[in-house]
This record gives sequence, C-alpha cells and structure tokens, in this order.
Amino acid sequence: MRPLVLFYLLVIYVLLQFSWWAYLLLELNNEVVEQKTELYELQKDQMPAHEVDFFSKELNQRTAMVVGEGLVFLAILLIGIYITRRSFNKEFALARQQKNFLLSITHEFKSPLAAVKLNLQTLQKRELEKEQRTSIIAKALNETERIHNLIENALLAARIESHSFQMHVEEFNVTDCISSTIQSRIIPGAELKNIELDLEDNLYMKGDALAISSLILNLLENAEKYTHDKSSISISLKQVKNHLIIEVADHGIGIADTEKTKIFEKFYRVGNEDTRNTKGTGLGLFIVKHIVDFHHGTIEVLDNLPNGTIFKVILPVD
Ligand code: ADP
Repeated sequence: MRPLVLFYLLVIYVLLQFSWWAYLLLELNNEVVEQKTELYELQKDQMPAHEVDFFSKELNQRTAMVVGEGLVFLAILLIGIYITRRSFNKEFALARQQKNFLLSITHEFKSPLAAVKLNLQTLQKRELEKEQRTSIIAKALNETERIHNLIENALLAARIESHSFQMHVEEFNVTDCISSTIQSRIIPGAELKNIELDLEDNLYMKGDALAISSLILNLLENAEKYTHDKSSISISLKQVKNHLIIEVADHGIGIADTEKTKIFEKFYRVGNEDTRNTKGTGLGLFIVKHIVDFHHGTIEVLDNLPNGTIFKVILPVD
C-alpha cells in the first residue's frame, strides 16, 4: 500500500504545482494587458481605437491557451493515473494469489506427508490384521498419489509458463487413455467416489496422450474435491463429426456464473484462503485450459442439474 500512497502524494504535488504555475501565468497575463491598457489611456490620441479591442482579445486568447493546455495536461495525467492504478491492482492481485499459492502448496505438501508418516509408523509399531494393513497402505498410497500429482502439476505449470512445454503428438486411443487414467487411481481398500463411465469404444485422436490424461485427472480430482456428498461423478466420451466431446459432470457445490471465466487463471481459487476448506493450488484448471488450447479445442463450464458442474471439452480429432 505504501507505494500507492507515495504515488498519490506525488500526483497531488504535481497538481498543486501545476495549478500554481497556471495561476501565476494568468496573473502575469493580466498585468501585461493592464499595463498596455494604461499606456493606451496615456497615448489615446496617437493610437487607433481598434487597439483597445486588440488588448482584451489578446488577454482572452492567452487565458484560453493556458486553460486549454491545462485541460490537456490534466487529461494526460488522469489517463496516467488510471493506467498506473490498473497495473498496480493487477500486480497486487497476482502477489496476493502467489502468497495464497505458497500458503496452500506448503499446506498441500505438509499434510499428506504427515499422513504417510503416521501410516508407516502405525505399520511399524503394531501387529495388525491383514485387512487393517491393506487399508493403512491404501491410505498412504493415496496420499503419495496426491503429492505426486501436485508435483506433476507444478512442473507442468512451470513448463507452460516458460513456453518450454512440448507436445508429443501421435494418434492414440482416447477411450483407452481415459479408462487407464481412471484405473490408475484405484487403490485397493481406498475410499473413492463412484465414477460412472460412458465412453464410446475405440475413439482415436491426434494429440499428446499424457497431456490428455493429465486433463482428465485434473477435472476428475476437482469433481471429487468439490462434491461433499456421496453422489457419483460421470465421465463421458463421444465423437460428433470431426470432434471428440469429453464431459466430466458432478453434483457438487457448483460454480457461480461470475467465477466461470476466472477459474482458468493461474493460482485462481474461488473464495478466500482463510475461509476455504478444500485443498488446492489453483493450478489445475490453468493447466487444463492450456492443454485444451494446445490441441486447438474448447472448454465450457456448464451448470449440472439439479446442482453441480459439467466441464465440457471439445477436441478436434486431427
Ligand atoms: P484448485 O487447486 O483450487 O482445485 P483449480 O484450478 O483446479 O484449482 O480450480 C480453480 C477453482 O475452480 C477451484 O478453487 C474451485 O473453486 C473451482 N472449481 C474447479 N472445479 C470445480 C468443480 N468441479 N466444482 C466446483 N468448483 C470447482
């Protein structure tokens, strides 16, 4: 906030300074014309009558010039203030989001690591039944999976930012890619949300299979994260002419219309860091949007009925 206060103080100083100079200039102008008029009064007989008009015209012209230039200066100054204020706001928002990101990423790493440690200590210290052991191992694996995805997302976002993200384009089976991505998340004994799959068989596209897998993973993780009840999540894939349509639908908390465009921004998370109780970094949808763009596709956020969200991705086959 300090730079902004300094900036406004400087603006006020410039305005005062400028007004003072304008005032002095006008005063000086008046004095010159007054003196000329006095001179005229003294030499009335030798001067032609139209000279009087000339003096007052000159005064008016000079006043108009000073006022006109002043207004131009003021307009330029106001535009400058507006542009500076706007970029300041942008910087400020980015700094706040980065701070939020740091807070959340630290938290994101700490809590699954602590959970893994606790699970391993339990396994080490106690003689457990096979069922209990499977459940504890599943929990630990689930947490490591979270850390792994988090690191993957952070690396991918950094590569996108530095324009070093390269796609390995090849023709691949999207149906298999989606099912194996979902399969890879299933850990025996772990509690996962019910996922309904409706995938058309053997649909192919040209693109980066790993990137599409990351897209599905991010949309699926969000659907799970922002659904607090037991309702299921559905994923569908179909082909319409030369396009593949992937939909990930949940019956969760939904997204307000005003947020729908903002959620794809880097680090953007709905709500306030202090009041939010879901984990996340605000990178998931930023990555998803870039993957869609790299494939020359589109992504839409729709409201699900009666509640929840549908992410609809349309990708060209070629
Ligand atoms: P995050 O790590 O916070 O999940 P994302 O970039 O994946 O970051 O998502 C940005 C924001 O969009 C989230 O913070 C959340 O508020 C909102 N969001 C994303 N997906 C969903 C969803 N399926 N339902 C409700 N809100 C969602």
